[in-house]
Amino acid sequence: MDLTRRNFLKGAGMAAGAAAVAGLAGCAPEAQPATSDAETPTELSSTSDVRWSWDAAPELPADDQISETYDCDICVVGLGAAGPGAMYYAMKNGKKVVALQKLETMHNGGGGCGVFNTSDPEKYGLPEGYDFQTIMQGLVDATCGKTNHALIRRMVFKSGPAVEWLRDNIPGANLDYVLLSGDHFGTAWAIDGWESTKDGIGIVGDWICNWAQENGGTILYETPATQLIKDDSGAVTGVIGQTADGSYVRVNTTDGVILCTGDICDNEEMLERWFPEAIGLPHFNARDGLDGDAVKMGTWVGAAIEPVAANCQLHLDVAGNAQFKGVPWLTVNNKGERFMNEGQWFEFVTNSILHQPNHECYQIIDSHLLEGIPAYNRAFMPPDNMEAVEGMVAEGTGFKADSIEELAQQIGIDPSQLKAVVDRFNGFVDQGADEDYFLDPKYLKYAGIKEGPFYAFHYTNGINCVDAGLLVDDQMRVLAEDGQVIPGLWAAGNASGGMFGPDYPARYLGFSVGRSVTGGMVAVQSILGTVDEDF
Ligand SMILES: Cc1cc2nc3c(=O)[nH]c(=O)nc-3n(C[C@H](O)[C@H](O)[C@H](O)COP(=O)(O)OP(=O)(O)OC[C@H]3O[C@@H](n4cnc5c(N)ncnc54)[C@H](O)[C@@H]3O)c2cc1C
Repeated sequence: MDLTRRNFLKGAGMAAGAAAVAGLAGCAPEAQPATSDAETPTELSSTSDVRWSWDAAPELPADDQISETYDCDICVVGLGAAGPGAMYYAMKNGKKVVALQKLETMHNGGGGCGVFNTSDPEKYGLPEGYDFQTIMQGLVDATCGKTNHALIRRMVFKSGPAVEWLRDNIPGANLDYVLLSGDHFGTAWAIDGWESTKDGIGIVGDWICNWAQENGGTILYETPATQLIKDDSGAVTGVIGQTADGSYVRVNTTDGVILCTGDICDNEEMLERWFPEAIGLPHFNARDGLDGDAVKMGTWVGAAIEPVAANCQLHLDVAGNAQFKGVPWLTVNNKGERFMNEGQWFEFVTNSILHQPNHECYQIIDSHLLEGIPAYNRAFMPPDNMEAVEGMVAEGTGFKADSIEELAQQIGIDPSQLKAVVDRFNGFVDQGADEDYFLDPKYLKYAGIKEGPFYAFHYTNGINCVDAGLLVDDQMRVLAEDGQVIPGLWAAGNASGGMFGPDYPARYLGFSVGRSVTGGMVAVQSILGTVDEDF
Protein backbone atom coordinates (compact mmCIF):
# COMPACT_ATOMS: atom_id res chain seq x y z
CA MET A 1 0.00 0.00 0.00
CA ASP A 2 1.21 3.47 -0.80
CA LEU A 3 2.54 5.06 2.32
CA THR A 4 1.56 8.68 2.66
CA ARG A 5 2.69 11.55 4.86
CA ARG A 6 0.57 10.10 7.64
CA ASN A 7 3.26 7.81 8.95
CA PHE A 8 4.02 9.83 12.01
CA LEU A 9 1.79 8.94 14.90
CA LYS A 10 1.49 10.39 18.34
CA GLY A 11 1.09 8.00 21.23
CA ALA A 12 1.12 4.92 19.07
CA GLY A 13 3.69 2.19 19.16
CA MET A 14 4.45 -0.37 16.53
CA ALA A 15 2.23 -2.96 18.14
CA ALA A 16 -0.62 -0.50 18.30
CA GLY A 17 -0.10 0.36 14.66
CA ALA A 18 -0.45 -3.25 13.69
CA ALA A 19 -3.51 -3.51 15.88
CA ALA A 20 -5.10 -0.62 14.07
CA VAL A 21 -4.52 -2.22 10.71
CA ALA A 22 -6.38 -5.25 12.01
CA GLY A 23 -9.01 -2.85 13.32
CA LEU A 24 -9.59 -1.52 9.84
CA ALA A 25 -10.54 -5.01 8.86
CA GLY A 26 -13.06 -5.04 11.67
CA CYS A 27 -11.30 -6.86 14.48
CA ALA A 28 -9.25 -4.39 16.48
CA PRO A 29 -7.72 -6.10 19.48
CA GLU A 30 -8.35 -4.68 22.90
CA ALA A 31 -6.03 -1.84 23.84
CA GLN A 32 -3.52 -2.94 26.47
CA PRO A 33 -2.25 -1.00 29.48
CA ALA A 34 0.85 0.97 28.66
CA THR A 35 4.23 -0.14 29.85
CA SER A 36 5.82 3.17 28.88
CA ASP A 37 4.82 6.80 28.47
CA ALA A 38 1.79 6.73 26.15
CA GLU A 39 2.39 10.31 25.05
CA THR A 40 5.76 9.57 23.46
CA PRO A 41 5.50 10.10 19.71
CA THR A 42 6.69 7.09 17.80
CA GLU A 43 7.89 6.87 14.20
CA LEU A 44 6.28 4.03 12.30
CA SER A 45 8.37 2.08 9.89
CA SER A 46 8.01 3.05 6.26
CA THR A 47 6.48 -0.34 5.59
CA SER A 48 3.54 0.39 7.90
CA ASP A 49 0.05 0.14 6.44
CA VAL A 50 -1.25 2.97 8.58
CA ARG A 51 -2.57 5.94 6.63
CA TRP A 52 -4.33 8.34 8.99
CA SER A 53 -3.15 9.24 12.46
CA TRP A 54 -6.23 7.74 14.10
CA ASP A 55 -5.74 4.42 12.36
CA ALA A 56 -3.49 3.34 15.20
CA ALA A 57 -4.98 2.65 18.62
CA PRO A 58 -2.93 4.20 21.41
CA GLU A 59 -2.25 2.21 24.55
CA LEU A 60 -4.39 2.76 27.61
CA PRO A 61 -2.76 4.83 30.32
CA ALA A 62 -1.03 2.84 33.03
CA ASP A 63 -2.73 2.57 36.42
CA ASP A 64 -0.34 5.06 37.99
CA GLN A 65 -1.40 7.66 35.44
CA ILE A 66 -5.02 7.42 36.59
CA SER A 67 -5.76 10.09 39.18
CA GLU A 68 -9.41 9.18 39.82
CA THR A 69 -11.76 6.29 39.09
CA TYR A 70 -15.54 6.62 38.85
CA ASP A 71 -18.11 3.84 38.73
CA CYS A 72 -21.49 4.41 37.13
CA ASP A 73 -24.22 2.83 35.04
CA ILE A 74 -23.91 5.13 32.04
CA CYS A 75 -21.17 7.47 30.90
CA VAL A 76 -22.29 10.27 28.58
CA VAL A 77 -19.38 11.71 26.62
CA GLY A 78 -19.90 15.25 25.32
CA LEU A 79 -22.45 17.79 26.51
CA GLY A 80 -23.77 19.64 23.48
CA ALA A 81 -27.17 19.09 21.89
CA ALA A 82 -27.33 15.31 22.38
CA GLY A 83 -25.56 14.72 25.69
CA PRO A 84 -27.67 16.60 28.24
CA GLY A 85 -30.98 15.00 27.22
CA ALA A 86 -29.37 11.57 27.40
CA MET A 87 -28.03 12.32 30.87
CA TYR A 88 -31.36 13.63 32.11
CA TYR A 89 -33.43 10.80 30.68
CA ALA A 90 -31.02 8.25 32.14
CA MET A 91 -30.99 9.86 35.58
CA LYS A 92 -34.79 10.19 35.62
CA ASN A 93 -34.89 6.47 34.92
CA GLY A 94 -32.77 5.71 37.95
CA LYS A 95 -29.38 5.45 36.31
CA LYS A 96 -26.17 6.67 37.87
CA VAL A 97 -24.50 8.88 35.26
CA VAL A 98 -21.04 10.33 34.86
CA ALA A 99 -20.58 12.82 32.01
CA LEU A 100 -17.28 13.92 30.52
CA GLN A 101 -17.18 17.29 28.78
CA LYS A 102 -14.25 18.73 26.90
CA LEU A 103 -15.02 22.38 27.61
CA GLU A 104 -15.58 24.18 30.91
CA THR A 105 -19.31 24.34 30.11
CA MET A 106 -21.86 22.48 28.04
CA HIS A 107 -21.82 23.83 24.51
CA ASN A 108 -23.88 23.25 21.37
CA GLY A 109 -23.13 25.17 18.19
CA GLY A 110 -26.74 25.94 17.28
CA GLY A 111 -29.91 25.69 19.28
CA GLY A 112 -32.69 25.60 16.69
CA CYS A 113 -34.26 22.22 17.37
CA GLY A 114 -36.53 21.01 14.56
CA VAL A 115 -38.92 18.14 15.20
CA PHE A 116 -41.67 16.06 13.62
CA ASN A 117 -44.53 14.06 15.06
CA THR A 118 -45.50 16.51 17.77
CA SER A 119 -48.89 16.33 19.40
CA ASP A 120 -51.60 18.72 18.16
CA PRO A 121 -49.82 19.86 14.97
CA GLU A 122 -53.03 21.52 13.80
CA LYS A 123 -52.80 24.00 16.69
CA TYR A 124 -49.51 25.35 15.37
CA GLY A 125 -50.17 25.59 11.64
CA LEU A 126 -50.49 22.10 10.17
CA PRO A 127 -54.28 21.75 9.87
CA GLU A 128 -54.01 18.40 8.12
CA GLY A 129 -51.36 17.09 10.52
CA TYR A 130 -48.03 15.71 9.35
CA ASP A 131 -47.67 14.37 5.83
CA PHE A 132 -45.26 11.59 6.78
CA GLN A 133 -45.31 10.17 3.28
CA THR A 134 -43.78 13.38 1.90
CA ILE A 135 -41.50 13.98 4.88
CA MET A 136 -39.98 10.50 4.89
CA GLN A 137 -39.68 10.46 1.12
CA GLY A 138 -37.95 13.84 1.21
CA LEU A 139 -35.56 12.83 3.95
CA VAL A 140 -34.51 9.59 2.31
CA ASP A 141 -34.31 11.17 -1.15
CA ALA A 142 -31.97 13.81 0.30
CA THR A 143 -29.52 11.12 1.33
CA CYS A 144 -28.96 9.57 -2.13
CA GLY A 145 -29.89 6.22 -0.64
CA LYS A 146 -26.72 6.11 1.42
CA THR A 147 -28.34 5.95 4.83
CA ASN A 148 -30.24 3.80 7.25
CA HIS A 149 -33.92 4.44 6.62
CA ALA A 150 -34.96 2.74 9.84
CA LEU A 151 -32.76 5.19 11.72
CA ILE A 152 -34.29 8.16 9.89
CA ARG A 153 -37.75 6.83 10.67
CA ARG A 154 -36.90 6.40 14.34
CA MET A 155 -35.55 9.96 14.60
CA VAL A 156 -38.54 11.47 12.78
CA PHE A 157 -41.15 9.70 14.86
CA LYS A 158 -39.35 10.01 18.20
CA SER A 159 -38.32 13.66 17.83
CA GLY A 160 -41.61 15.28 18.82
CA PRO A 161 -42.18 12.91 21.75
CA ALA A 162 -38.58 13.51 22.90
CA VAL A 163 -38.95 17.28 23.22
CA GLU A 164 -42.38 16.87 24.75
CA TRP A 165 -40.95 14.51 27.36
CA LEU A 166 -38.34 17.15 28.20
CA ARG A 167 -41.04 19.80 28.45
CA ASP A 168 -43.15 17.61 30.72
CA ASN A 169 -40.25 16.64 32.96
CA ILE A 170 -38.48 19.94 33.43
CA PRO A 171 -40.32 21.99 36.03
CA GLY A 172 -41.39 25.33 34.60
CA ALA A 173 -40.42 24.43 31.03
CA ASN A 174 -42.37 26.21 28.31
CA LEU A 175 -42.18 24.78 24.83
CA ASP A 176 -43.66 26.61 21.88
CA TYR A 177 -43.70 25.43 18.29
CA VAL A 178 -42.90 27.47 15.19
CA LEU A 179 -43.88 26.14 11.77
CA LEU A 180 -40.78 25.62 9.58
CA SER A 181 -40.59 25.03 5.82
CA GLY A 182 -44.32 24.34 5.91
CA ASP A 183 -43.95 20.76 7.16
CA HIS A 184 -42.39 20.56 10.62
CA PHE A 185 -41.77 22.60 13.76
CA GLY A 186 -38.99 24.50 15.41
CA THR A 187 -39.03 24.61 19.18
CA ALA A 188 -38.88 27.76 21.29
CA TRP A 189 -37.87 27.17 24.90
CA ALA A 190 -38.06 29.06 28.15
CA ILE A 191 -37.80 27.69 31.68
CA ASP A 192 -39.42 29.67 34.48
CA GLY A 193 -36.83 31.05 36.84
CA TRP A 194 -33.89 29.86 34.73
CA GLU A 195 -31.65 32.47 33.16
CA SER A 196 -29.38 31.00 30.52
CA THR A 197 -26.76 32.45 28.25
CA LYS A 198 -27.45 29.63 25.78
CA ASP A 199 -29.83 29.55 22.83
CA GLY A 200 -32.71 27.26 21.95
CA ILE A 201 -32.13 23.73 23.12
CA GLY A 202 -29.00 25.02 24.85
CA ILE A 203 -31.29 26.57 27.46
CA VAL A 204 -32.57 23.09 28.22
CA GLY A 205 -29.10 21.54 28.17
CA ASP A 206 -27.76 24.19 30.46
CA TRP A 207 -30.60 23.64 32.94
CA ILE A 208 -30.07 19.88 32.81
CA CYS A 209 -26.35 20.16 33.55
CA ASN A 210 -27.11 22.27 36.58
CA TRP A 211 -29.87 19.92 37.72
CA ALA A 212 -27.70 16.83 37.22
CA GLN A 213 -24.96 18.13 39.47
CA GLU A 214 -27.47 18.98 42.17
CA ASN A 215 -29.13 15.58 41.94
CA GLY A 216 -26.39 13.02 42.17
CA GLY A 217 -24.98 13.16 38.67
CA THR A 218 -21.30 13.78 38.05
CA ILE A 219 -20.04 16.08 35.32
CA LEU A 220 -16.31 16.28 34.76
CA TYR A 221 -15.72 19.49 32.84
CA GLU A 222 -12.49 20.14 30.97
CA THR A 223 -12.04 16.39 30.88
CA PRO A 224 -12.21 15.16 27.29
CA ALA A 225 -12.66 11.45 26.79
CA THR A 226 -9.59 10.06 25.06
CA GLN A 227 -10.21 6.32 24.83
CA LEU A 228 -12.76 3.61 25.39
CA ILE A 229 -12.10 0.60 27.58
CA LYS A 230 -13.07 -2.88 26.39
CA ASP A 231 -13.27 -6.14 28.29
CA ASP A 232 -12.06 -9.50 27.04
CA SER A 233 -15.38 -10.19 25.32
CA GLY A 234 -15.07 -7.03 23.24
CA ALA A 235 -17.74 -5.11 25.16
CA VAL A 236 -17.09 -1.46 26.00
CA THR A 237 -16.95 -1.13 29.76
CA GLY A 238 -15.72 2.38 30.34
CA VAL A 239 -13.99 5.52 29.23
CA ILE A 240 -10.65 7.19 29.87
CA GLY A 241 -10.68 10.96 30.17
CA GLN A 242 -7.84 13.41 30.49
CA THR A 243 -7.90 16.25 32.97
CA ALA A 244 -6.48 19.72 32.53
CA ASP A 245 -3.38 18.74 34.54
CA GLY A 246 -2.62 15.92 32.13
CA SER A 247 -3.57 13.05 34.41
CA TYR A 248 -6.27 10.56 33.47
CA VAL A 249 -9.60 9.57 34.93
CA ARG A 250 -11.19 6.20 34.45
CA VAL A 251 -14.96 5.82 34.28
CA ASN A 252 -16.22 2.25 34.64
CA THR A 253 -19.69 1.58 33.25
CA THR A 254 -22.07 -1.28 33.87
CA ASP A 255 -24.64 -0.39 31.21
CA GLY A 256 -22.99 1.63 28.52
CA VAL A 257 -21.13 4.58 27.09
CA ILE A 258 -22.97 7.09 24.90
CA LEU A 259 -20.67 9.10 22.64
CA CYS A 260 -22.09 12.57 21.96
CA THR A 261 -18.87 14.35 21.04
CA GLY A 262 -20.17 16.11 17.94
CA ASP A 263 -18.57 16.39 14.55
CA ILE A 264 -15.11 16.55 12.96
CA CYS A 265 -14.95 20.16 11.77
CA ASP A 266 -11.96 21.18 13.87
CA ASN A 267 -9.82 18.25 12.77
CA GLU A 268 -8.19 19.22 9.50
CA GLU A 269 -6.82 15.77 8.88
CA MET A 270 -10.33 14.33 9.15
CA LEU A 271 -11.65 17.03 6.82
CA GLU A 272 -9.00 15.98 4.35
CA ARG A 273 -10.20 12.39 4.72
CA TRP A 274 -13.97 12.99 4.62
CA PHE A 275 -14.68 16.48 3.26
CA PRO A 276 -11.67 18.25 1.76
CA GLU A 277 -13.83 21.03 0.31
CA ALA A 278 -14.27 22.34 3.84
CA ILE A 279 -10.58 22.98 4.40
CA GLY A 280 -9.91 26.69 4.74
CA LEU A 281 -13.55 27.73 5.11
CA PRO A 282 -14.48 29.80 8.16
CA HIS A 283 -16.15 27.94 11.02
CA PHE A 284 -19.29 29.39 12.51
CA ASN A 285 -19.15 27.49 15.80
CA ALA A 286 -18.31 29.84 18.65
CA ARG A 287 -16.08 27.20 20.29
CA ASP A 288 -13.41 24.78 19.07
CA GLY A 289 -13.02 21.21 20.20
CA LEU A 290 -14.99 19.27 17.61
CA ASP A 291 -12.02 17.10 16.81
CA GLY A 292 -13.71 13.91 15.71
CA ASP A 293 -12.95 12.20 19.01
CA ALA A 294 -15.80 9.72 18.56
CA VAL A 295 -14.29 8.66 15.26
CA LYS A 296 -10.92 8.11 16.90
CA MET A 297 -12.23 6.33 20.00
CA GLY A 298 -14.72 4.31 18.01
CA THR A 299 -12.19 3.26 15.41
CA TRP A 300 -9.87 2.04 18.15
CA VAL A 301 -12.52 -0.39 19.41
CA GLY A 302 -13.45 -1.61 15.94
CA ALA A 303 -16.43 0.65 15.16
CA ALA A 304 -17.37 1.29 11.55
CA ILE A 305 -17.45 4.87 10.27
CA GLU A 306 -20.25 5.70 7.84
CA PRO A 307 -18.87 4.82 4.43
CA VAL A 308 -19.76 8.06 2.64
CA ALA A 309 -18.15 11.46 2.36
CA ALA A 310 -18.97 13.51 5.43
CA ASN A 311 -22.11 15.58 5.26
CA CYS A 312 -21.28 19.21 5.77
CA GLN A 313 -23.71 21.68 7.22
CA LEU A 314 -22.47 24.31 4.84
CA HIS A 315 -23.93 27.70 5.48
CA LEU A 316 -23.81 31.35 4.51
CA ASP A 317 -22.72 33.95 7.06
CA VAL A 318 -24.77 33.03 10.10
CA ALA A 319 -24.28 36.10 12.24
CA GLY A 320 -27.65 37.53 11.25
CA ASN A 321 -26.24 39.25 8.20
CA ALA A 322 -27.59 36.76 5.69
CA GLN A 323 -31.23 37.15 6.37
CA PHE A 324 -32.42 36.69 2.80
CA LYS A 325 -30.27 33.70 1.96
CA GLY A 326 -33.23 31.37 1.61
CA VAL A 327 -35.00 33.40 -1.07
CA PRO A 328 -34.49 32.43 -4.73
CA TRP A 329 -33.58 35.84 -6.11
CA LEU A 330 -31.07 36.47 -8.89
CA THR A 331 -27.62 35.49 -7.63
CA VAL A 332 -24.28 36.21 -9.30
CA ASN A 333 -20.69 35.36 -8.47
CA ASN A 334 -17.94 37.92 -7.97
CA LYS A 335 -17.47 38.14 -11.74
CA GLY A 336 -21.08 39.13 -12.19
CA GLU A 337 -22.07 35.77 -13.70
CA ARG A 338 -25.27 33.97 -12.89
CA PHE A 339 -24.30 30.37 -12.08
CA MET A 340 -27.19 28.36 -10.65
CA ASN A 341 -30.87 27.74 -10.36
CA GLU A 342 -31.56 29.85 -7.28
CA GLY A 343 -34.65 27.78 -6.47
CA GLN A 344 -32.80 24.57 -5.65
CA TRP A 345 -32.79 23.31 -2.07
CA PHE A 346 -30.82 25.51 0.32
CA GLU A 347 -28.11 22.89 0.83
CA PHE A 348 -27.55 22.81 -2.91
CA VAL A 349 -27.46 26.63 -3.08
CA THR A 350 -24.66 26.65 -0.51
CA ASN A 351 -22.78 23.96 -2.42
CA SER A 352 -23.16 25.86 -5.69
CA ILE A 353 -21.70 28.95 -4.02
CA LEU A 354 -18.87 26.85 -2.60
CA HIS A 355 -17.75 26.14 -6.13
CA GLN A 356 -17.62 29.80 -7.16
CA PRO A 357 -14.49 31.96 -6.93
CA ASN A 358 -13.74 32.81 -3.32
CA HIS A 359 -16.90 30.93 -2.23
CA GLU A 360 -18.91 34.13 -2.46
CA CYS A 361 -21.92 35.55 -4.26
CA TYR A 362 -24.31 38.49 -4.44
CA GLN A 363 -28.09 38.41 -4.46
CA ILE A 364 -29.51 41.25 -6.56
CA ILE A 365 -32.96 42.68 -5.86
CA ASP A 366 -34.97 45.80 -6.37
CA SER A 367 -37.05 47.70 -3.86
CA HIS A 368 -40.23 45.68 -4.56
CA LEU A 369 -39.02 42.15 -4.15
CA LEU A 370 -39.98 41.85 -0.51
CA GLU A 371 -43.60 41.94 -1.64
CA GLY A 372 -43.26 38.39 -2.94
CA ILE A 373 -41.83 36.92 0.23
CA PRO A 374 -45.09 35.64 1.72
CA ALA A 375 -45.57 33.51 -1.39
CA TYR A 376 -42.36 31.55 -0.85
CA ASN A 377 -42.43 28.53 1.37
CA ARG A 378 -38.83 27.56 1.88
CA ALA A 379 -36.14 27.06 4.45
CA PHE A 380 -34.65 30.23 5.91
CA MET A 381 -37.50 32.58 5.23
CA PRO A 382 -36.51 36.18 5.77
CA PRO A 383 -38.26 39.03 7.52
CA ASP A 384 -40.48 40.76 4.97
CA ASN A 385 -39.66 44.30 5.93
CA MET A 386 -37.41 46.97 4.51
CA GLU A 387 -35.81 47.55 7.91
CA ALA A 388 -34.02 44.21 7.51
CA VAL A 389 -32.79 45.25 4.07
CA GLU A 390 -31.57 48.59 5.30
CA GLY A 391 -29.99 46.84 8.29
CA MET A 392 -27.80 44.78 5.98
CA VAL A 393 -26.83 47.93 4.12
CA ALA A 394 -25.95 49.61 7.41
CA GLU A 395 -23.77 46.73 8.54
CA GLY A 396 -21.89 46.59 5.25
CA THR A 397 -23.04 43.26 3.82
CA GLY A 398 -25.79 44.94 1.80
CA PHE A 399 -25.28 47.56 -0.91
CA LYS A 400 -27.78 50.06 -2.27
CA ALA A 401 -27.75 52.19 -5.43
CA ASP A 402 -30.13 53.97 -7.79
CA SER A 403 -28.90 52.10 -10.84
CA ILE A 404 -27.60 48.61 -11.55
CA GLU A 405 -24.36 50.06 -12.94
CA GLU A 406 -23.76 52.04 -9.77
CA LEU A 407 -24.56 48.96 -7.68
CA ALA A 408 -22.04 46.95 -9.73
CA GLN A 409 -19.35 49.51 -9.05
CA GLN A 410 -19.99 49.28 -5.33
CA ILE A 411 -19.48 45.51 -5.32
CA GLY A 412 -16.53 45.54 -7.68
CA ILE A 413 -18.24 43.95 -10.68
CA ASP A 414 -18.02 45.21 -14.26
CA PRO A 415 -21.16 47.43 -14.64
CA SER A 416 -21.92 46.35 -18.21
CA GLN A 417 -21.64 42.68 -17.19
CA LEU A 418 -24.08 43.02 -14.29
CA LYS A 419 -26.47 45.14 -16.39
CA ALA A 420 -26.50 42.50 -19.11
CA VAL A 421 -27.19 39.69 -16.62
CA VAL A 422 -29.99 41.65 -14.93
CA ASP A 423 -31.58 42.57 -18.28
CA ARG A 424 -31.48 38.94 -19.42
CA PHE A 425 -32.98 37.77 -16.12
CA ASN A 426 -35.73 40.40 -16.35
CA GLY A 427 -36.50 39.08 -19.82
CA PHE A 428 -37.06 35.64 -18.29
CA VAL A 429 -39.30 37.18 -15.63
CA ASP A 430 -41.39 38.90 -18.33
CA GLN A 431 -41.81 35.77 -20.40
CA GLY A 432 -42.40 33.59 -17.33
CA ALA A 433 -39.65 31.12 -18.24
CA ASP A 434 -35.98 31.00 -17.29
CA GLU A 435 -34.19 29.64 -20.34
CA ASP A 436 -30.80 29.49 -18.62
CA TYR A 437 -31.29 27.54 -15.36
CA PHE A 438 -35.06 27.04 -15.31
CA LEU A 439 -35.86 28.69 -12.01
CA ASP A 440 -39.38 27.64 -11.13
CA PRO A 441 -41.85 30.18 -12.61
CA LYS A 442 -43.60 30.37 -9.24
CA TYR A 443 -40.44 32.01 -7.87
CA LEU A 444 -39.43 33.77 -11.07
CA LYS A 445 -42.58 35.86 -11.18
CA TYR A 446 -41.58 37.67 -7.98
CA ALA A 447 -37.94 38.16 -8.96
CA GLY A 448 -37.93 41.04 -11.49
CA ILE A 449 -35.26 43.67 -10.82
CA LYS A 450 -36.75 46.75 -12.35
CA GLU A 451 -37.36 49.69 -10.09
CA GLY A 452 -34.67 51.26 -7.98
CA PRO A 453 -33.27 51.60 -5.53
CA PHE A 454 -31.43 48.35 -6.20
CA TYR A 455 -29.75 46.17 -3.60
CA ALA A 456 -27.00 43.57 -3.53
CA PHE A 457 -26.45 41.24 -0.58
CA HIS A 458 -23.06 39.66 -0.17
CA TYR A 459 -22.76 36.08 1.14
CA THR A 460 -19.82 33.78 1.75
CA ASN A 461 -19.71 30.12 2.74
CA GLY A 462 -18.76 28.83 6.15
CA ILE A 463 -19.17 25.63 8.09
CA ASN A 464 -21.59 24.86 10.88
CA CYS A 465 -20.50 21.26 11.22
CA VAL A 466 -19.06 18.36 9.24
CA ASP A 467 -20.32 14.95 10.26
CA ALA A 468 -18.50 11.68 9.75
CA GLY A 469 -20.11 9.51 12.35
CA LEU A 470 -19.94 6.03 13.77
CA LEU A 471 -22.35 3.70 12.08
CA VAL A 472 -25.27 2.96 14.38
CA ASP A 473 -28.45 0.96 14.12
CA ASP A 474 -31.86 2.51 14.74
CA GLN A 475 -31.30 2.22 18.51
CA MET A 476 -28.04 4.21 18.27
CA ARG A 477 -26.02 1.08 19.05
CA VAL A 478 -22.60 1.38 17.48
CA LEU A 479 -21.82 -1.19 14.82
CA ALA A 480 -18.57 -2.89 13.96
CA GLU A 481 -17.34 -3.25 10.38
CA ASP A 482 -19.14 -6.60 10.12
CA GLY A 483 -22.45 -5.02 11.11
CA GLN A 484 -22.47 -6.56 14.58
CA VAL A 485 -23.39 -4.38 17.56
CA ILE A 486 -20.45 -3.46 19.78
CA PRO A 487 -21.86 -4.21 23.25
CA GLY A 488 -21.77 -1.31 25.66
CA LEU A 489 -21.36 1.45 23.07
CA TRP A 490 -23.91 3.93 21.73
CA ALA A 491 -23.48 7.16 19.75
CA ALA A 492 -25.84 10.07 19.14
CA GLY A 493 -25.90 13.39 17.33
CA ASN A 494 -23.10 14.21 14.95
CA ALA A 495 -20.95 11.48 16.47
CA SER A 496 -23.36 9.02 14.87
CA GLY A 497 -23.65 8.41 11.14
CA GLY A 498 -26.01 6.83 8.67
CA MET A 499 -28.55 9.61 8.96
CA PHE A 500 -27.93 12.34 6.40
CA GLY A 501 -25.79 10.72 3.72
CA PRO A 502 -23.44 12.82 1.62
CA ASP A 503 -24.94 16.19 2.52
CA TYR A 504 -26.88 17.68 5.37
CA PRO A 505 -30.47 18.35 4.22
CA ALA A 506 -30.71 21.90 5.50
CA ARG A 507 -34.21 22.16 4.03
CA TYR A 508 -35.38 20.26 7.15
CA LEU A 509 -34.43 23.15 9.35
CA GLY A 510 -33.23 22.29 12.82
CA PHE A 511 -33.29 18.54 12.36
CA SER A 512 -29.57 18.34 12.99
CA VAL A 513 -30.19 19.40 16.57
CA GLY A 514 -33.55 17.61 16.61
CA ARG A 515 -32.08 14.25 15.71
CA SER A 516 -29.22 14.83 18.17
CA VAL A 517 -31.49 15.40 21.15
CA THR A 518 -33.68 12.52 20.06
CA GLY A 519 -30.75 10.18 19.44
CA GLY A 520 -29.30 10.73 22.90
CA MET A 521 -32.60 9.84 24.53
CA VAL A 522 -33.18 6.88 22.20
CA ALA A 523 -29.74 5.56 23.16
CA VAL A 524 -30.85 5.56 26.79
CA GLN A 525 -34.08 3.81 25.85
CA SER A 526 -32.01 1.21 24.07
CA ILE A 527 -29.98 0.68 27.23
CA LEU A 528 -33.20 0.42 29.24
CA GLY A 529 -34.73 -1.98 26.72
CA THR A 530 -37.64 0.38 26.08
CA VAL A 531 -36.84 1.69 22.64
CA ASP A 532 -40.19 0.64 21.21
CA GLU A 533 -42.10 2.31 24.02
CA ASP A 534 -43.03 5.94 24.53
CA PHE A 535 -40.59 8.14 26.38
C1 LIG B 1 -23.39 28.60 14.44
C2 LIG B 1 -24.15 27.31 14.32
C3 LIG B 1 -25.53 27.35 14.21
C4 LIG B 1 -26.23 26.17 14.08
N1 LIG B 1 -27.58 26.22 14.05
C5 LIG B 1 -28.28 25.08 14.03
C6 LIG B 1 -29.69 25.11 14.12
O1 LIG B 1 -30.29 26.15 14.34
N2 LIG B 1 -30.35 23.93 14.02
C7 LIG B 1 -29.70 22.74 13.83
O2 LIG B 1 -30.35 21.72 13.74
N3 LIG B 1 -28.37 22.69 13.78
C8 LIG B 1 -27.65 23.82 13.91
N4 LIG B 1 -26.30 23.76 13.93
C9 LIG B 1 -25.67 22.43 14.01
C10 LIG B 1 -25.84 21.90 15.44
O3 LIG B 1 -25.30 22.81 16.37
C11 LIG B 1 -25.19 20.54 15.60
O4 LIG B 1 -25.60 19.67 14.59
C12 LIG B 1 -25.56 19.95 16.95
O5 LIG B 1 -25.15 20.79 17.99
C13 LIG B 1 -24.96 18.57 17.10
O6 LIG B 1 -25.19 18.12 18.40
P1 LIG B 1 -24.15 17.11 19.09
O7 LIG B 1 -24.61 16.91 20.47
O8 LIG B 1 -23.95 15.96 18.21
O9 LIG B 1 -22.77 17.89 19.07
P2 LIG B 1 -22.42 19.31 19.75
O10 LIG B 1 -23.66 20.04 20.06
O11 LIG B 1 -21.44 19.89 18.85
O12 LIG B 1 -21.78 18.88 21.11
C14 LIG B 1 -20.64 18.10 21.21
C15 LIG B 1 -20.00 18.39 22.56
O13 LIG B 1 -19.03 17.40 22.83
C16 LIG B 1 -17.91 18.01 23.41
N5 LIG B 1 -16.77 17.14 23.12
C17 LIG B 1 -16.07 16.99 21.98
N6 LIG B 1 -15.14 16.06 22.11
C18 LIG B 1 -15.23 15.58 23.37
C19 LIG B 1 -14.53 14.60 24.11
N7 LIG B 1 -13.53 13.91 23.57
N8 LIG B 1 -14.90 14.37 25.38
C20 LIG B 1 -15.90 15.08 25.97
N9 LIG B 1 -16.58 16.04 25.32
C21 LIG B 1 -16.26 16.27 24.03
C22 LIG B 1 -17.83 19.37 22.76
O14 LIG B 1 -17.14 20.29 23.60
C23 LIG B 1 -19.30 19.73 22.60
O15 LIG B 1 -19.78 20.50 23.68
C24 LIG B 1 -25.56 24.92 14.04
C25 LIG B 1 -24.17 24.89 14.17
C26 LIG B 1 -23.47 26.07 14.31
C27 LIG B 1 -21.98 26.02 14.47
